[in-house]
Amino acid sequence: MAAVGGVPGGMSARATMLPEKATHRQTRTFNQQLVLRALHDHSPLSRADLARLTGLTRTSVGDLVRTLIDSGLLEEIGRGRSSGGKSPILLRVAPDGRHVIGLDLGGVQFGAGVVNLHGEVLRSIRQPLEGRDGNAAVELVLQLVEILLADVRPPLLGIGVGVPGVIDTSTGTVRWSVSLDWADLRLGPLLEQRFGVPVVVANDSHAAALAELTFFRRPRPNNLIVIKVARGVGAGIILNGELFQGDGHGAGELGHISVGSATAPCRCGGKGCLETLASMSALVDAAGPIEPSVIDDSSLVAALHAGVPGIRRIVLDAARELGIAVGWMTGVLNVRHVLLVGPVAAFGDAWLSEVRHFARSSVLPMLAQDTQIEFGNVHDDVVVLGASALLMEQQLGLALVR
Ligand SMILES: [Zn+2]
Repeated sequence: MAAVGGVPGGMSARATMLPEKATHRQTRTFNQQLVLRALHDHSPLSRADLARLTGLTRTSVGDLVRTLIDSGLLEEIGRGRSSGGKSPILLRVAPDGRHVIGLDLGGVQFGAGVVNLHGEVLRSIRQPLEGRDGNAAVELVLQLVEILLADVRPPLLGIGVGVPGVIDTSTGTVRWSVSLDWADLRLGPLLEQRFGVPVVVANDSHAAALAELTFFRRPRPNNLIVIKVARGVGAGIILNGELFQGDGHGAGELGHISVGSATAPCRCGGKGCLETLASMSALVDAAGPIEPSVIDDSSLVAALHAGVPGIRRIVLDAARELGIAVGWMTGVLNVRHVLLVGPVAAFGDAWLSEVRHFARSSVLPMLAQDTQIEFGNVHDDVVVLGASALLMEQQLGLALVR
């Protein structure tokens, strides 16, 4: 088994704030995370830059950097420009200093990938679910991890998993995932026991939000909503730099809010949920009777771009329903950055404009004016990346705004 490799000598829990009576070890972990975090966000930096950015002394920085280089987390990448004296040595987070296995259990295929500390997906695989749920779906998760473990280079930092549904991230428990037929499944502990590395489990849309925040948004916004539209619809909400999970871990369950006069039964047991109107699965179901070639996401996108009569209307109607829901979210939270991720990105500008139009017209004009609604940066691997980001945050303190 690959060695577990968090911050050297560090604790697994992230050091959000230093306790008042911090032990020497807690202080050291906290300071190591400060250095890593500064380099993650602003690479490359010299030791003097690091001292300036973190407020630590030059001596402390020198000492921390040496330990982090020895543990493989940092690397020197040559010399920068001199501002008078000797030109400074530049540092960055070593991209392959640790690897993380990320899993996306939110689609009709399970996805898995090996991610490095720069957020690059080094290898990614997909396996169709083919109707599997319950224990059979757990087996598929184990198989995917086994496949990737066979060629992941150590040290492995851990495993991050994004699962649709209500997830208690603090205990790694899937409280409820309707599509996978999992209830109170202790997936995190199960994987930790099996593979001997730290594991984090999060809602897939929450993970998507972390991917955007950790790897793609500079400067990092304090507040951000990422809406994933795939097999289901869900939102990840970053508030004041932290992932907001709600009192019962169910924040952002946008797909199961019932909308308008819709009455179609939803797989959650409810009726008229947004998901029954605006998810990719709902669209595939609606388009099938009009155009028999539509059997999945990609054939639906192909039919839209080929101008098959009736398909455009179905897609734009779905965009309208989603747009209204996006408007409600921005009206309640006044978050200015909204990103849309998932296979819907393939619908392109016509779909996006419709979402924007209805989002803006269902909220106070003053709030609508300031809100940017865009496609996110990655779509296929966004959950794999985000689940990995959460693991990096827990083990190394890399991800969140603080
Ligand atoms: Zn529902």
